[in-house]
Amino acid sequence: MNEMELLKADIVKYGKKIKSANLVSGTWGNISIRHGDKIYITPCGIDYDNLLPEDIVTLNLEGKVIDGTKKPSTELNTHIELYKFREDINSIIHIHSIYATSIAAARKNIPAIVDDMAMIIGGEVPCAKYAFPGSKTIAQNIIEVIENKNAVLLSNHGAICLGRDIEEAFLVCEILEKSAQIYLFSTQIGIPKPLAMEEVEKMRDVYLNIYNSKE
Ligand SMILES: [Zn+2]
Repeated sequence: MNEMELLKADIVKYGKKIKSANLVSGTWGNISIRHGDKIYITPCGIDYDNLLPEDIVTLNLEGKVIDGTKKPSTELNTHIELYKFREDINSIIHIHSIYATSIAAARKNIPAIVDDMAMIIGGEVPCAKYAFPGSKTIAQNIIEVIENKNAVLLSNHGAICLGRDIEEAFLVCEILEKSAQIYLFSTQIGIPKPLAMEEVEKMRDVYLNIYNSKE
């Protein structure tokens, strides 16, 4: 397989993973990879179980289709705007998982309450203001709150997770969902205590520079 075929195969592989991990249902959610000046993204309306590498749509950073016969995800604009805003990330996964969406439905942030959240997501997960799915406002609302975080909740909708590569974006999805679950459980027995900002920053630094340097 050449590089482009490997990237498409990776998107298909992680599509099946987000489905089997119950992070999405049916054809919901979407996945993309940025590679050089191209974006590879899942198409609209194809169930992850039936998704094939040739269904993945290739576009330039202006959103013009270069290769593929399917219609790109309706959230394409959100992916493009986030790649423009965050030079450090090369993969985006949008999910509708139960626990993260529960908190998004309450339009609350998830405080930085566990170590792996600090390391992999970069601390507290902000909740972006509500915007109609597929609208351009989604990207604006995410950019308003994302800073250098790798995950954002989308009010009454789901979450968006970023990574330096698709493997890391998927890990962010898993850590986000786990943290959302822990946060909800923790509120049953008291008020969860967030980590101090300096602890969050120290752990993030260890993760990026020692543990998992992708340089
Ligand atoms: Zn969605």
